[in-house]
Amino acid sequence: MQIIYNRIFLEHKTNSHPECPERLLAFGDLEQSEIENGEKYLRLVYNEEYTKKIKNDSKQGLNLDADTYTNSKSYEVACYAAGAAIKAAKESNLALIRPPGHHATAGKAMGFCLFNNIAIACKWLNERGKKVFVVDFDGHHGNGTQDIFYTTDKVLYLSTHQYPAYPGTGWVNEIGTGRGKYYTINIPSPPYTSDDLFVGILSEIIPVIKEQYKPDVVAVSAGFDGHKDDPLLQLNLTVNSYYEAGKLLSSNFKNIFACLEGGYNTEVLPHCVSAFLLGINNQKMNLKFRESATASAANVQREFESRIKSLKLSHDGFWGF
Ligand SMILES: [Zn+2]
Repeated sequence: MQIIYNRIFLEHKTNSHPECPERLLAFGDLEQSEIENGEKYLRLVYNEEYTKKIKNDSKQGLNLDADTYTNSKSYEVACYAAGAAIKAAKESNLALIRPPGHHATAGKAMGFCLFNNIAIACKWLNERGKKVFVVDFDGHHGNGTQDIFYTTDKVLYLSTHQYPAYPGTGWVNEIGTGRGKYYTINIPSPPYTSDDLFVGILSEIIPVIKEQYKPDVVAVSAGFDGHKDDPLLQLNLTVNSYYEAGKLLSSNFKNIFACLEGGYNTEVLPHCVSAFLLGINNQKMNLKFRESATASAANVQREFESRIKSLKLSHDGFWGF
């Protein structure tokens, strides 16, 4: 898995906002990839009215909600982000893109997200008969992705996130409805959840999903704001979690691609991404940036375990974990 990047993703910007071009500039001089403008893929998730509204609001540089800004380039940049997500799905690569996508529903831009990049790629794969397993380890719940696929079994959505936290969704009893019942799995982690619990629960669930769901493709909403030094959340993960998540995925699945979501500490973000790539590419954890793996305090562990118990009850034993 390699990085897909283009300087176009620096053009979406405003004054002092955590979701800023510096997040990508922090990676230094990345090689640029040729990316197609993904405007034609928006229809996979969005109706014309929504797309037109985002285009017009962006033209005027309006805020789409309290946290979600646009400037005159945002619409175009977001179209390229969707194009990069499709390219990542085709090539099994990591789209290092912004704006992020997993909070955007089919009808609402929110949480720094205009269009849901990973959802667009999943729909593109569904149209080609592929069943997709989404692993969203961003520290926030991907309410948009959950919402878009809530009634289908063609996409299985798994999220680990801090709870309570923005956007307020992602409790264990949100499991999907209709054909989608049981195809949403939420792991709401208490603040200060550390590497041990994060890696432990993914190690338990992912092999079961491999056996039972047998996805054709795995789509990773790769957000890194669960890192202990991230300014927006209070999780306690280190680069070791991202390395282990990558390793776990590559040891269970063949076709994997990823899209960048959050991660707002520009000093650690490139290390988190490198760790994930080392893991997914079956390489040694040889980062110069070293962190000791973290362990959760006893009260966090107790709360986490009680939530996992509730999660299993909510799913009526449908999944064998
Ligand atoms: Zn996030």
